[in-house]
Amino acid sequence: MSFVSHMDLALKAARAAFARGEVPVGAVLVAPGGRVVASAGNRTRELQDPTAHAEMLVLRAAGAERLPDHDLYVTLEPCPMCAAAISLARIRRLYYGASDPKSGGVAQGPRIFSHPQCHHVPEIYDGLAEPEAAALLRDFFRARRG
Ligand SMILES: [Zn+2]
Repeated sequence: MSFVSHMDLALKAARAAFARGEVPVGAVLVAPGGRVVASAGNRTRELQDPTAHAEMLVLRAAGAERLPDHDLYVTLEPCPMCAAAISLARIRRLYYGASDPKSGGVAQGPRIFSHPQCHHVPEIYDGLAEPEAAALLRDFFRARRG
């Protein structure tokens, strides 16, 4: 089976989040076989919910306790909360774009997947569409500081 990236769709969800005044992060959940289960951007402001990160929203939308053989695309390195949720959901592959030195929990900070208490570690592919994902975040925070 050839590789089809769903990062474009994740970027689209991130841009939509930007337009809503949310931190521009987008995520896409893909079922085995390639069907898109859900895509979402951050909605923490709209839902007044600090856990309404894009990754949490697509995992919830799937409506299943575990999602073995599912892949998750996200434009930004997941935070510790989302990384833990990804592990609990048994996600097969995690693809992410920009790294997040401030709040990331995969390659830096608590490095959730390297922790001995982490019982499931997805395959991780970083740097997908990194320039686009990072530029979106830069533009967003620059506009907010404005
Ligand atoms: Zn998160």
